[in-house]
Amino acid sequence: MTVPDFISPVVGYRVWQWDATGLRSLNGEKWVAHQPLSAVCRADVRGSIAGLSKATHNPAELPSFSCTCGVYAARTMDHLRQCGYRKLSVHGEVFLWGTVVEHERGWRAQFAYPKTLFLAADAIPFSLSEINSRLTTLAEFGTDIFLLHDSERLVLWKHGSGFDAAGLDYLINRRKEHYVRRQQERTLKPGDRVAVLGHGIAVVEQIDGKEVHVALGNRHVLRIARKEIVVNEQNNRWECEANKARGYQACE
Ligand SMILES: [Zn+2]
Repeated sequence: MTVPDFISPVVGYRVWQWDATGLRSLNGEKWVAHQPLSAVCRADVRGSIAGLSKATHNPAELPSFSCTCGVYAARTMDHLRQCGYRKLSVHGEVFLWGTVVEHERGWRAQFAYPKTLFLAADAIPFSLSEINSRLTTLAEFGTDIFLLHDSERLVLWKHGSGFDAAGLDYLINRRKEHYVRRQQERTLKPGDRVAVLGHGIAVVEQIDGKEVHVALGNRHVLRIARKEIVVNEQNNRWECEANKARGYQACE
């Protein structure tokens, strides 16, 4: 256990960034699994820039009551929001110990380690291989990991038992739904617009088996083989070569 057994740590709330390399503070500081994050004082650096005396307190006293150093944590989730962290896509509870300086809305601590992590669905990558490698970086911390779905919390990874079936099912279903939606968006339907290259934009009137009838302007209805109408990813639209379209009647 990373938190020493003989102390009762304070529990606060934090927000993190999470990328392929793991968990980081919003200022970019890396959190390492199985290792407490230790406070560092940068007051001497700022002091020298401002031309002031170098160290403003004994560097052995971390965090100092009169300084701004320490690992920060808020008292509640609401306090995090009040501090302006609107996007709480990766947040959680954190153990704080050592010297802990108390403030109205939170603490500055000498040592910190994650206790529980909450992930919003939009924080989770999409491909299964990426999900696996990214979640591994979090699971290494050995803390419980929950998924936030609407106002529910789903267990994703539990200390001692590993990945949870319900959380994984949720992730897999979310991917499936996304692909079904994408597929539907990619199904040509009456009313869709098709660029007949060099002629203009036509509107699908009906789809008759392998043939699509499109109206170009008010007058021309063209027949195009379904397989000739393709998505142009770059322009994000349906397109068809003009020589694949056959005019078969002029409408009233
Ligand atoms: Zn300091």
